[in-house]
Amino acid sequence: IQTPDNPTIPYIEGDGIGPEIWTAAKQVMDAAVRKAYNGKRHIEWKEVLAGEKAFNQTGTWLPNDTLKAFQTYRIGIKGPLTTPIGGGIRSLNVALRQTLDLFVCLRPVRWFKGVPAPVKHPENVKMVIFRENTEDIYAGIEFELGKPETDIFRHFLTDEMGISKVRFPESSAFGVKPISKDGSERLVRSAIHYAITNHLPSVTLVHKGNIMKYTEGAFKNWGYQIAANEFGDAVFCWPTYLEIKKRDGKRAADEAFENAKTQGKIIIKDVITDAFLQESLLHPEDHSVIATMNLNGDYISDQLAACVGGIGIAPGANINYDSGHAIFEATHGTAPDIAGTGKANPSSLLLSGVMMLDYLGWTEAGKLIENALEALMAEGKMTADLYSQTEHATLLTTPAYADAMLA
Ligand code: NAD
Repeated sequence: IQTPDNPTIPYIEGDGIGPEIWTAAKQVMDAAVRKAYNGKRHIEWKEVLAGEKAFNQTGTWLPNDTLKAFQTYRIGIKGPLTTPIGGGIRSLNVALRQTLDLFVCLRPVRWFKGVPAPVKHPENVKMVIFRENTEDIYAGIEFELGKPETDIFRHFLTDEMGISKVRFPESSAFGVKPISKDGSERLVRSAIHYAITNHLPSVTLVHKGNIMKYTEGAFKNWGYQIAANEFGDAVFCWPTYLEIKKRDGKRAADEAFENAKTQGKIIIKDVITDAFLQESLLHPEDHSVIATMNLNGDYISDQLAACVGGIGIAPGANINYDSGHAIFEATHGTAPDIAGTGKANPSSLLLSGVMMLDYLGWTEAGKLIENALEALMAEGKMTADLYSQTEHATLLTTPAYADAMLA
């Protein structure tokens, strides 16, 4: 991405705690950019509306102007949005992701020293999750119990496909899980590119292909094919290890594997989802970049975020690496229980801002913010969510937290 010195970036402030964390995050991002580039660069922020603010001002939850702005300026950032009840919209976030075809949900997970964490060695949890963002059961294709189309679908399965009626009694509801070759390939391709660009050692394909052979199993196979066909010598795929082992024995396979690592090749491997959830708690150091489908990615993102301190400090982005469109966002919701009380932690939005600065190529500014956050956590200066779990910490309100970072 070629970034001008004064890029225009549309932002959605968000509902609930959105305005509080946005004010804090914007202040810190502006200061970091100013300091990193001696005032020669700055971001032209352009507010666009979505959620409650949009509904109150325009009568729609997600105005066309907002979508157009993200399309035009390509990169944007947003706070959390209330999910409207009724009105035909499942979720504003899903609508944004689908309209812009933001096929990667990117979630880096790292621990900041001092942050209370439930695992013994949170410093070993360093992973980057590539979650497919447009397919899987999130396509929202469901057949509700009692609807005529559900009956038609049930008859199709039993009469046309010959699947036993016993497995589909009349009280059945159904969901459809679309996983495409193209969709899987572009996700895995992006994950491998990321590993290469950021000098990371491996990409783990996480799937439940032992049970769902034609969807999750196919994802794994397509992933390995893309790795071998498009990345050649830059990667070493686990099936190659198994082939060598079968042909020349374990010793030769181990040797080939060690050689690949020494040569800096990216190891492409796969793990069944349930085993991954266990392994990532027991041996998080064994995994680096994770590539997976939508539902697995949803579970994995929250588990790993919890390992390093929870949603108040977990950043995220939705990206289309082909078109360049990207929206960076706090991963938590609108936290209506604490809105307006000064208890909100702006770190999730702020670290999403760091991801955005990195994406723009302004890594120096992002690093300044990360350094400030590291210093604050090490000194035990925390917002209420983390303070309440930490001994000898100092409680800061959201604006005081931003001030401490600026200092
Ligand atoms: P939530 O994430 O808003 O809140 C869960 C808990 O975490 C609450 O106790 C809250 O106080 C706390 N919390 C969340 N963010 C925090 C922060 N930055 N600092 C301190 N504490 C924080 O989840 P919810 O209550 O299930 O959802 C509330 C609303 O947000 C719903 O309308 C939901 O649909 C929406 N939502 C939006 C997004 C998004 O826009 N990306 C994501 C999830 C939920």
